[in-house]
Amino acid sequence: MRGSTIELPGTSSAPALLDPFGRAVTYLRVSVTDRCDFRCVYCMSEDMSFLPKRDLLSLEELDRICTAFVGQGVRKLRITGGEPLVRRDIMTLFRTLSRHLESGALDELTVTTNGSQLARFAQELVSCGVRRVNVSIDTLDPDKFHRITRWGNLAKVLQGLDAAQAAGLKVKINAVALKGVNEDEIESLIAWTHGRGMDLTLIEVMPLGEIDGQRIDQYLPLSEVRRRLEARYTLQDLAERTGGPARYVKVAETGGKLGFITPLTHNFCESCNRVRLTCTGQLFMCLGQEDAADLRAPVRASEDDAPLNRAILDAIARKPKGHDFIIDRNHARPAVGRHMSMTGG
Ligand code: SAM
Ligand code: SF4
Repeated sequence: MRGSTIELPGTSSAPALLDPFGRAVTYLRVSVTDRCDFRCVYCMSEDMSFLPKRDLLSLEELDRICTAFVGQGVRKLRITGGEPLVRRDIMTLFRTLSRHLESGALDELTVTTNGSQLARFAQELVSCGVRRVNVSIDTLDPDKFHRITRWGNLAKVLQGLDAAQAAGLKVKINAVALKGVNEDEIESLIAWTHGRGMDLTLIEVMPLGEIDGQRIDQYLPLSEVRRRLEARYTLQDLAERTGGPARYVKVAETGGKLGFITPLTHNFCESCNRVRLTCTGQLFMCLGQEDAADLRAPVRASEDDAPLNRAILDAIARKPKGHDFIIDRNHARPAVGRHMSMTGG
C-alpha cells in the first residue's frame, strides 16, 4: 500500500503524510553525523567505528531531503546525531533550512546537542531561526559527568548553556536515568533546571546498539522514579502531547515542567507523528524496528525530486504500528543493532 497525502482543513496548504494507521507524519528527526566528541556509556562503546565519510549525505543532499519532507507536510525538523554541532559547516544546513521558517512552511527548526559546541554556535543558531534546543546533561557532578560521557567536560557544556540562554534560546535538559549512577541526583536536577527556567526531561535507557556493559545494569524504570518524586513533590499531569513517547507534568513546588520519556514502561506508539533520517539517508519509520527505506539512492539517481517524493510516500506506507522493546535478563542483546547516535535521539 502507498502512503497517502491529504489536505488538512484549516492548516497549511502543504499536504499531510498519512501512514496506514491514519497518523499524520509531521515531524522529521535528522541525524547529520554518527560521530561525536563524547562516548556516553549508554550510547556508544569506547572504540566505536564510524561510517566512512563517502557514505554520508552531503549538506546539500540533507537539505534536499528535508525540503522534500517539508513539501509533503512535515512542520518540525530536529537536527541531531551523533553530535550535530561537530559536523563541519553544519551551520550551512541550518542557514538553508531556515528559508522554510521564513516562508511559513515549517513551524520549528531545532537541535539536540551535548552542548560542547554551544558556546560557539548559540548566537548563529538563533540567527537561523532556532528558538529551542535540547541539551543532554545526566549529572552536575564533574567527575561523574566525565565517567558517563568518557570524553566530556562539564564546565565546557555549562558555558555552552550560559551562551544558549544569553542568546535567547529556550533550553530543555535531557537526562538519561541510570540505575545507581544519577538516580540520587534527580531532585537536584529538577531544582537546578527549574531554577534556571529550563524544562527537564528524563529518559529511560533504550536497548539500541552494542555497548560495553549490560543494559539491565543501567536500566531504571521511570515509573519507579516518578513514584519516588511523588513522595516529595506534587506532580500535576499536563495535557501537552508532542506525538512522541514523552509525558509532561508540572512540578507544583518549582512551577517547572518535567517530562518522562518511557518507551519501555509505557508505549505511546498510537499517536506517533515522527520518522527518523540517518546521516546516510536511511529513513527509519520507527525507532524500535529494523525496517528502513533508502532515500540516498533516489537523491543520487536523479536531480528531479519526483523519485525522492515517491520513495518518501512508499516509506510512510510501511510505518509500523509500534515497537517491542524489552530489557531483561533473557534479552541481553539490543532490540535493534544500530546505535542511538545513528538514528538520533
Ligand atoms: N549528541 C547529542 C546529545 O547527546 O544530545 C544528540 C544525539 S543523542 C543520541 C540524543 C539523546 O539520546 C541524548 O539525550 C542521549 O542521552 C540519548 N541517548 C543516547 N543513547 C541512548 C539510549 N541507549 N537510551 C536512551 N537514550 C539514549
Ligand atoms: Fe554523543 Fe549524544 Fe551519544 Fe553521548 S548521547 S555519545 S553525546 S551522541
